[in-house]
Amino acid sequence: SRQWSLVARPQGEPQPSDVRLDEVDVPDPGPGEVRVRNTWLSVDPYMRGRMDDRPSYVPPFRLEEPMTGGAVGVVELVGDGVEGVAEGDCVLHDRGWRERAVLRADAVRVVDADLAPAQAYLGVLGTTGLTAWVGVLDVAQMREGDVVLVSGAAGAVGSVAGQVARLKGASAVVGTAGGEEKVRWLLDDAGFTRAGDHRSASPADLLRDLLPDGADVYFDNVGGPTLEAALPRMRDHGRVALCGAISGYNATSAPPGPRTLGLAIGKRLRLEGFIVTDHLDRTEEFTREMAGWIARGDVVYRETATEGVESAFDAFRGVLSGANTGKMLVRLDPD
Ligand code: NDP
Repeated sequence: SRQWSLVARPQGEPQPSDVRLDEVDVPDPGPGEVRVRNTWLSVDPYMRGRMDDRPSYVPPFRLEEPMTGGAVGVVELVGDGVEGVAEGDCVLHDRGWRERAVLRADAVRVVDADLAPAQAYLGVLGTTGLTAWVGVLDVAQMREGDVVLVSGAAGAVGSVAGQVARLKGASAVVGTAGGEEKVRWLLDDAGFTRAGDHRSASPADLLRDLLPDGADVYFDNVGGPTLEAALPRMRDHGRVALCGAISGYNATSAPPGPRTLGLAIGKRLRLEGFIVTDHLDRTEEFTREMAGWIARGDVVYRETATEGVESAFDAFRGVLSGANTGKMLVRLDPD
């Protein structure tokens, strides 16, 4: 069975020499443990932060140890004394970046693969979807009639955030994404009112065009120059949910702050950072609502997948550089 370890801390963009794929023997599960054959791995932008050695809300990866991350798989062996998890169950857990994992049975969550394909629990029905839903509703406190701007809108979180806003009565949902194809998908399939390509114009010009009357809510996935350009577009009493700042994740020095931040005072803006894991108590209500939307076709989602555990690092580099529309995943070979 193969697994990825971090062997060096990346300087700037992660390089193949920063990681290693090892072949290891996977033991049988001990008492209270299960062995899982992973079928899908999640690769996520926050993993870039874990490659650096600095304090954060999630501890850094350790050098020469297998990396972790979201995964779903099938239970293939169950140890003594395990209750509530059976052979053949589809489970969600955090031992990604590898083909097989042995872990405590209470560290896996059995998911209903009839409700949605297993990998949806890594995306629209999982932490990704929850991030979008709590970001729009609890953090930005979107109200009916609001104009909502989403950056990184064709990504996993952004595409769901825009659709949650629409379904909750936003008067317009506006997105920015990299490239014409992503923009077309937002307009034609994901129900965005307006969308624009962030590579085709300066952020200030793009947002002026897209938001002639301003925005009440900004769901920010990218930070940097886009955040700087969004603040002048905000209406009084607007709310900015600071979800991510991917434009700076590979930066080797701290990016300059938004020079427009002073506008937040006169406009009485609220800017609030949030971390989805503080909102896990909302999981049940989120799952019920999102599952309903998906079943009715009100929420559409896309996945971009690479094949085989050997492709996981490329998939990870891809999510940082925009190779994905919707959730970036790695599909593992069935054996
Ligand atoms: P995405 O699926 O959105 O993938 C990342 C996307 O970011 C890429 O596809 C690319 O799309 C875009 N991007 C990369 N570089 C830039 C840049 N310089 N400027 C603008 N866009 C860029 O990933 P996720 O949906 O998983 O995550 C989205 C954001 O949400 C990230 O910032 C992540 O860290 C954050 N996050 C925060 C959580 C929280 O609890 N606060 C939880 C989960 C995610 P494009 O082609 O459009 O440029």
